Amino acid sequence: MSDLLANLNPEQLQAVTLPPVHALILAGAGSGKTRVLTTRIAWLISTGQVGPHGLLAVTFTNKAAKEMTARLSALVPVNVRGMWIGTFHGLCNRLLRAHYREAGLPQAFQILDSADQLAMVKRLLKNLNIDDEKYPPRELCHFINAHKEQGLRAAQAEAYDSFTQKRVEFYAEYEAQCNREGVVDFAELLLRCYELLQRNEPLRRHYQDRFRHILVDEFQDTNRLQYAWLQLLAGGGGKVFAVGDDDQSIYRFRGAEVGNMREFERDYAGDNIIRLEQNYRSHGNILAAANALIKNNQDRLGKNLWTAAGDGEPIRAFEAYSDLDEARFVVDEIRELVRDGASPTQIAILYRSNAQSRVIENELFTKNVPYKVYGGLRFFERQEIKHALAYLRLLTNPDDDTAFLRVVNFPTRGIGARSLENLQAAAHQTNSSLYNAAASLTGKAGQAVGAFIRLIEGLRQETANLPLPEMVEHVIERSGLTQHYRTEKEGQDRLENLDELINAAASFVDDEGAIGEGGALVSFLTLASLEAGEHQAGEGQEAVQMMSVHAAKGLEFDIVFITGLEQGLFPHDNSVNEGRDGLEEERRLMYVAVTRARQRLYISCAQTRMLHGQTRYCTPSSFLDEIPDTLLLRLNKRAAPEPVYGTGRRSTATRYEESPAPGGLRIGQTVAHAKFGVGVIVATEGRGADARVQVNFGGGVGMKWLALEYAKLTPC
Ligand code: ATP
Ligand code: MG
Repeated sequence: MSDLLANLNPEQLQAVTLPPVHALILAGAGSGKTRVLTTRIAWLISTGQVGPHGLLAVTFTNKAAKEMTARLSALVPVNVRGMWIGTFHGLCNRLLRAHYREAGLPQAFQILDSADQLAMVKRLLKNLNIDDEKYPPRELCHFINAHKEQGLRAAQAEAYDSFTQKRVEFYAEYEAQCNREGVVDFAELLLRCYELLQRNEPLRRHYQDRFRHILVDEFQDTNRLQYAWLQLLAGGGGKVFAVGDDDQSIYRFRGAEVGNMREFERDYAGDNIIRLEQNYRSHGNILAAANALIKNNQDRLGKNLWTAAGDGEPIRAFEAYSDLDEARFVVDEIRELVRDGASPTQIAILYRSNAQSRVIENELFTKNVPYKVYGGLRFFERQEIKHALAYLRLLTNPDDDTAFLRVVNFPTRGIGARSLENLQAAAHQTNSSLYNAAASLTGKAGQAVGAFIRLIEGLRQETANLPLPEMVEHVIERSGLTQHYRTEKEGQDRLENLDELINAAASFVDDEGAIGEGGALVSFLTLASLEAGEHQAGEGQEAVQMMSVHAAKGLEFDIVFITGLEQGLFPHDNSVNEGRDGLEEERRLMYVAVTRARQRLYISCAQTRMLHGQTRYCTPSSFLDEIPDTLLLRLNKRAAPEPVYGTGRRSTATRYEESPAPGGLRIGQTVAHAKFGVGVIVATEGRGADARVQVNFGGGVGMKWLALEYAKLTPC
């Protein structure tokens, strides 16, 4: 016990050991909020104040939830598996699985991820003959989700003009369709769970009595509905222990409300507001940069972070000529750091938008640096994986139209778009699922769809008694997916991914042991939709961590690279166009990024960048100007006439065609030399008087390193 509390400062100790009261721990980045929350759970359990089943802890990402359970098992000998620790979505899913009947859901209800949701909206628009230019599908998804996040059903949505009236009607159709198919989208998990608890008094009582302690990490990012859900659960005397930092609220676009913090402070926490001001994570210069940035935001709850760690190193700033140049800089630095003993898992590359990762990935890959991307192209979102999952989903719930449409004609079975439209019309008329309406199709199409139905029925029987991994394997094989990808040009990768899915099923069984309600397959499919992007191949390998700034919330690394600090990208145009609120949200995001670093921070930008197929000419982010110059070590001067190149050998020339070489020459450029003839520039080294270029003259001459000053190369 004394061990548990030994490493806490007085304020942390006070927070951890509070009696059962509502409390708010309001504190800046790296001040130990998550540590306090985890330690409090351990303390409550180990002092016998509550059993492991009497508390609920919620956080924002699956990664954070895992981290929490891992830390907890290190602190107290407790079986964390049965405990209610998870994300809002995960916990709501768990509750709905346990009470699916009361919630009006089929036992094996499936979760629509955002791509599935978009597909369903598109399909419905078509069925209902609604103009998708006037009512863009993405915008409708947003409309629906935003309403759900406010706790509003279509029946309660306000239709203040005819345009909105139409959107509300569509929302109602969408709800009906989801109910018909027995599927729920992400926002629905929460709303459905909230409504269930609200309506069903005995159930509500049960959970209110059970959860005496409700602990919430990253409280600043809760939205209205999540807050209402917490209030409902705590309505029977349970105590809410919330930790958060208003300066790190970065989910406004998903309805997060910092106002919840003020409200909680006023209505609940009362005298139990504890501020933690000592930062244990970052060295002084990093913290000073973070403080300097965030002080430009108005309307903050205000705190004063300090560290005893000393100034540490200056922040390294690099201005690259292009995104390629930036990627090369980052990767070269990383190679050097690792050579000097840094652990790759302690190095993070952060970016504002996932599209930025590709260039850096390419560079890492070329230079053989193992890396792992969180988010971005997600494993469970790959085409072949979604196809396999769709077959599996149909086994558990044939009414899942989204899954049906995904694979009814994949691999091709001669079922045309026309037949599917007829089938959809029939299903719509009889208010049944496509699967059930299939019998109504006649002729050739009828036969083909009939064969598909028989395939699914056959698969269900054949796999009924198989363990999960074998079931997955059997379905991939028998559905024709393997055969299909074997003949496809780029099929090898996809086949490997399908193998990886079988591995994922196997390790899922190992990890989870006994499977919850609905059986192994349902639990596995739930994991696939809830944890998309967090299961990449090569788990356990020492790898550099790559992720968006959003995904980095709550995490920490010894060394952090923040890339793409350009106006329009970070801060992002979309937010800046929204005015002050948008810019302040971006600044909080930058604050989150900076405060991830423990010892060393790099910030970089590029003068040109290829994004979405276009070259952008960029100016450095205004956030760079908000960091005092005294904290910076500029690795090159702005708009330097010559680039700073490392001295590493360049093996491929073509990848650097955008980078100017010394003397106005470019890598990849053809040049003539009086003696050696015509050649191509392959690499460059050094600068100014020391600049050298490597030229491949081909033939008998081959590669030559030439001092630029004497060689007299002429571009041709
Ligand atoms: P964020 O706002 O980024 O989520 P946080 O406030 O949750 O940060 P933690 O992640 O809990 O901060 O803590 C930051 C780091 O400081 C961790 O490595 C943690 O172990 C360490 N730390 C926290 N408190 C102490 C302490 N009293 N003594 C030593 N180290 C501490
Ligand atoms: Mg934290």
